[in-house]
Amino acid sequence: MPTEIPIPVQAQASAHFDAEAATEAYLAAIPAEARGRSDAYFEGGYWLILWDFVIGVMASVLLLGTRWSAGMRNLAERVTRFKPVHTFVYWCEYLLVTSVLTFPMAVYEGFLRERKYGLATQTFGPWMNDQFKGLLVNAVLGGIIAMLLFGVARKLPRTWWIWGAMVTMAFLIFVVLIAPVYLVPIFNKVSILSDPKITEPILRLARANGIPARDVYQIDASKQTTRMSANVSGFGNTMRITLNDNLLRRGSPEEIQSVMGHEMGHYVLHHIYKSMLFFLVVTVMGFALLRWSLDWSLARWGERWQIRGIGDTAILPLVVLLGSIFFFVLTPILNTYTRTQEYEADMYGLNASRQPDGFARAAIHLGEYRKMSPGAVEEWIFFDHPSGRNRIYAGMRWKAENLELFMGKPEAPTGAGGKDGRK
Ligand SMILES: [Zn+2]
Repeated sequence: MPTEIPIPVQAQASAHFDAEAATEAYLAAIPAEARGRSDAYFEGGYWLILWDFVIGVMASVLLLGTRWSAGMRNLAERVTRFKPVHTFVYWCEYLLVTSVLTFPMAVYEGFLRERKYGLATQTFGPWMNDQFKGLLVNAVLGGIIAMLLFGVARKLPRTWWIWGAMVTMAFLIFVVLIAPVYLVPIFNKVSILSDPKITEPILRLARANGIPARDVYQIDASKQTTRMSANVSGFGNTMRITLNDNLLRRGSPEEIQSVMGHEMGHYVLHHIYKSMLFFLVVTVMGFALLRWSLDWSLARWGERWQIRGIGDTAILPLVVLLGSIFFFVLTPILNTYTRTQEYEADMYGLNASRQPDGFARAAIHLGEYRKMSPGAVEEWIFFDHPSGRNRIYAGMRWKAENLELFMGKPEAPTGAGGKDGRK
């Protein structure tokens, strides 16, 4: 994939400019081989959603059916009777056993497949090192939420599900708050961007949009991947915009501006706060269904699996199993929620940055790991961002309606195919 993608003739501002033709011209600029590869990569991801789900279900059924889970609980009880510590010990056992069971899939999905498609930059050693760090983070954070939730279930056996949803939500907000400052740096180096050639246009864009940003952050994502990306993370005081070094290295200034406009859209449109509200609804629904389905399953198989009740840690594989069914079924809804926000951020970003061609070229770069032209149903189910085609079209539609910004002079002669005078 070329780093610098020229603006196709049909996408250059002219009196005959047509958004549809401009979109087709951009798509045609992608080499067929590159397109075939990213289609195969992304479509393979659809199957992975299914296989991950199936493997997770099998692991849970195995732990319950063989009573390993009950055995792990007994072992944890031998370590300590002090309930929170007992829960933490069980959690560590659970994490270890499930990590071993799903390890082959994790290697394929996270390492072999990424390398096969040229998206990974790590060798096996550093990749394993990251996995190990992830496991430790999971042990600590997962251990905390497990202790809290089992504590709630033991103290409030009738209303645990509603309090459990509240505790989960509060914990989620806490994790979002600390992530940029304490979690991300465990895996990557985050620094403040200092090159004024890059930061000045970005900060100008921020000020023009009423964003009180002083700093823009960069992350050394190239340590793990070739993917270009940027994000808004954090909450309150820790909220920040971060660009990854692949974008800084491979993206043109116009692309970087268009991506920043998009990220500012997330910020100005309060997407993090709205997502939290959305997840509050999802969490309460999930816990209500969990209460009902746990009671139902325990009545049937509780004795056979040697689970004593809601407050017994041995129930965890069942909770994970029911939760994974819930989220598997919800896949299109969650994707559509995210994709809708992404589309809003796209619209904001185009208006703010006025870089429709930078935006189109960023869409092509992002198309290295995302199918460019899916069907409508396919996009609805699987895409958590608008497809590349839809993003390019959105950019070209914006350009068509703002052609005067791009024509050399307002009275440019017909058919001059004016130079793309970006500002
Ligand atoms: Zn976004």
